[in-house]
Order: sequence, then structure tokens, then C-alpha cells
Amino acid sequence: MTWCNLSFNFQVNLIMAIQVVSKATLGSCWSNIRLFSAYRLQFVQAESSAMPVLCSHCEEKRAILKRPKTGHSLCKECFFWAFEEEVHQTIISACLFNPGETVGIGASGGKDSTVLAHVLKVLNERYEYGLKLLLLSVDEGITGYRDDSLETVKRNQQQYELPLKIVSYEELYGWTMDAIVKQVGLKNNCTFCGVFRRQALDRGAMMLKVDKICTGHNADDVAETVLMNVLRGDIARLCRCTAISTSSEGEGMIPRCKPLKYAYEKEIVLYAYFKKLDYFSTECVYSPNAYRGHARAFLKDLEAVRPSAIMDVIHSGENLSVREDVRMPVQGTCSRCGYISSQALCKSCVLLEGLNRGLPRLGIGKHHRLHGKILAQESLTQEEQRKLKTADF
Ligand code: SF4
Ligand code: ZN
Repeated sequence: MTWCNLSFNFQVNLIMAIQVVSKATLGSCWSNIRLFSAYRLQFVQAESSAMPVLCSHCEEKRAILKRPKTGHSLCKECFFWAFEEEVHQTIISACLFNPGETVGIGASGGKDSTVLAHVLKVLNERYEYGLKLLLLSVDEGITGYRDDSLETVKRNQQQYELPLKIVSYEELYGWTMDAIVKQVGLKNNCTFCGVFRRQALDRGAMMLKVDKICTGHNADDVAETVLMNVLRGDIARLCRCTAISTSSEGEGMIPRCKPLKYAYEKEIVLYAYFKKLDYFSTECVYSPNAYRGHARAFLKDLEAVRPSAIMDVIHSGENLSVREDVRMPVQGTCSRCGYISSQALCKSCVLLEGLNRGLPRLGIGKHHRLHGKILAQESLTQEEQRKLKTADF
């Protein structure tokens, strides 16, 4: 992998995360770093004036980075140890796993899930968790993105010697994301993709008969989700989104957990980089309009003036309590597919019905009153169809 192959966000994260102590650390990519804007300039200037600093933990080796989370200057080995120990503490204190369990790791080939797979394998051996680890990937059918990232997952399978299962949207829903984008455009595509992925991961996990699914969501992801739910006024999701484990979400559902919940994205980038992990860092070709991007930009601004902003937002979300008289959705099951849903039909079935009927807006916005008609396979009126046909391209 070369510096130029890394996505811009990844480059910025890496540059922001590393406090240069050793120029040699970055080797051949050094001249390319000079090409990047303000952060890069600070980076280069800092490098030229920096004196060698000893690791504040072992006090023997030269420090190569300053931890974004604690500000400690550490050598590579002490950073690896500190990062892995924090994930171990997260797992132990939240009792995420039990000995003998089969755990499916949601693997996209990106930095988060690659670091998660690597660290879980290390900790499983170091602390004898007694887990059977598997990789579980979802192929959304995005040409030029997922096909390439799945090649990375296949290499990870060999490198970590873990079994791999890939489930595809095409086989589960009869639609690829490429085909969906052709029908719905680039405004709501991530709604389809996110809803289908969540269910696809569950379906894959059921095929593999895993006891738990763990995902690579990191502290930045959780803080962004808290902000998004506040901005949308989605109280039900706001209450759930900081949970490290979703075991209480519904009967028959496979519990999910987030062992990297307290790991900063910047540190995951550093860990992946210095461990030389094989991961994929190109952004999805259909990503530009995701609402999450605004929450992410806002959080980055907050973090620039208050480095603890990510943990502060998570802490606020964790300690939030909702008045007893606030009405919350009641979780039931979808009448068509049996998946968890607070409506007669789950979101996935409604979105799929919309695609199959050529009515892409069916699952966007609130059209719950039409669920009865859909379940009964009734035709919609011409006026109903007219409103649901238009897609924002
Ligand atoms: Fe799917 Fe949107 Fe993510 Fe692309 S950016 S993988 S379309 S959710
Ligand atoms: Zn359903």
C-alpha cells in the first residue's frame, strides 16, 4: 500500500494523530506528506524542530507517537500494548464474551474491522478467552469499492487463519447497490444500504450459528451517532446507541457488541499503520451525501478545541435518561420476514417492496399506513404511486 492509495480522510487522520518524533518512521511516504495542507505543514515544522523523546512508559526506547487519547509519548511496542490492554479492559468490564462462544466479526476490509479482527485474535490467545472467531462480510454489490475491499478480507482470512463467510445483497434481496443506486439515485442510497447491511449481517450470523456478532464501531462512530440522534430528535435510538452490547434488542436476535467502543479513530489508524495491517482505505463511491458526514465534521471541529469532546459526548449519551411518559416504539417482529420491527413490516421489507414495485420512496419517510396494503399484496392508488415514484437524483 502506498500513501497515495490512502483515502484523504485516512491521510488527515494519520497526520493529525502522529506527533512526529522520528522522521524515519514514515519512510518513503515522507515527501508525499509535504503535499498536504495545514495539518501537513504543522507536521513537517514540528518534525524539523523536534528533539528525540523517550517513551514515557518504558523510558528506554524512542517515542514514535503522542497518543491522541492521553497525550503520552510512547514507543511502538508500548503503544500496541496500551491499545490492546484498553480493548481487553473494555471486553472484561462489560463481560462481552463467555468462554466457548462462537463470535462473528463483521469484516469490511477497512481499518476498524481489520484492527478489531487482529486485536481479538491477539487477546483471545493472550488471555485465553476460549472464543471461536469467524469473519463475516457483506457484499453490497458496489463495483470498484466492495469488490476490492473483499479481496482484502480474503487476504485477512489467510493472514489470521479465520474462517470467512460472505453474504451478498444480490443473493439475499435480489438487488445489488449498483442496481439500487440506478433506481433511487444518490440521495437516499445509504438508507437502503444501511438497513440491508444490518439485516444481512444478522442473516449471515444465523447461517454461521454464531453466538455473538462484534463490529468495529469506534468511539468517534458512537459519538457521531449520539449527535445524529440528538439532531434528528430520535429518542429511541438515542437511548440505545451508546450501549456496548445490544443483547436486549429483541428475542431471537443475535447480540451485537462493540469492543472498540472507547478506541479513538486516530489511534485505530495509528495501530493499523504501525502494525502494517493489510486493510482497505478507499471511500465508497456512493458516500458523498451521508448525513453522518455533517455530524462527523461538527465533532472534528469540537475536538480541535476540546480534545476530550468524543468521550464527553459518549459519556453524555450513556447517562441520558428519558422521562417515563415519553412514548417509545414497541419492538415486535416483521409480519413478512420475522425480523425485529416496531411496525407491521420491517424497514428492510418495505424498502425491498418499494424497489420491486418501482416505488423507491416507499421506505423513505413515513408511509406506515400503506403497510397493510403491501402485506395484502394490494395495488396502491394512482395518487399513492405517483408520490412514491419520484426519486431524488
Ligand atoms: Fe453503503 Fe452508503 Fe456506506 Fe456506500 S457509503 S457502503 S452506499 S452505506
Ligand atoms: Zn421484514
